Amino acid sequence: MWKALRITTLLFVLLGVALSAWRNERNATDWIGPLVVAVYPINADGSELAERYLQALAVERFEPVSAFIAAQGMRWQLPRTVPVDFRLAPRVNALPPPLPRDGNVLSVINWSLRLRWWAWRHDTYAGHWKQVRLFLLYHDPARSPQLAHSTGLQKGLLGVVNLFASPDMNAQNNVVLAHELLHTVGATDKYDPSSGQPLHPDGYAEPAREPRYPQRYAEIMAGRVPVGPDEAEQAASLQQTVIGAKTAREIGWLR
Ligand SMILES: [Zn+2]
Repeated sequence: MWKALRITTLLFVLLGVALSAWRNERNATDWIGPLVVAVYPINADGSELAERYLQALAVERFEPVSAFIAAQGMRWQLPRTVPVDFRLAPRVNALPPPLPRDGNVLSVINWSLRLRWWAWRHDTYAGHWKQVRLFLLYHDPARSPQLAHSTGLQKGLLGVVNLFASPDMNAQNNVVLAHELLHTVGATDKYDPSSGQPLHPDGYAEPAREPRYPQRYAEIMAGRVPVGPDEAEQAASLQQTVIGAKTAREIGWLR
């Protein structure tokens, strides 16, 4: 009798958790109110440089990303003018579980569950309302000239983003940040994973442009400006980047 009651209670709790997760994910793409994004800075390599960068970090640092999403929203006739509202959480003094190297489906599922648990335990944000959580891992570029892959998960509205702890790299950081943020609200990658080359037409900012090459802009979920059929250059800043039609559809801007 007690056992049955315990199992029923547990099932109700699990159902409640699943329903609230589903509702949060749906609300995040209704774009009726601004999407509230909590960002959690982390000194990823314990470096002096990242330390100084984090001490000077203010929420205004993320303004170019909000401005980019607002401008692109206007381009796609989104009724809201302030689609994203960043909130800076106190820094987190822990590192998230590393992404599995083998890319095996089971280990990725296992990792994403561990990441969600880790994010819940290290949530330093005291505000009572947030939708997306982005953990920002800042690295000294001299120690890590090449950063590990960043991840944005729609399940759990959660991202782990590797960035450079250098003001000179802010423009490049913003491209990565916007890309991962859009993953959390449903955008998919639009490049060939083996070559990094943007996929035509969805990974192109101007897929119908004649002649096709060189393109002038990058689609944000491809991240690179195609300059030839097998050649693309990293977008240097958000000014060089647009949200294409397929991404706009995936994130709920186009029905
Ligand atoms: Zn991506």
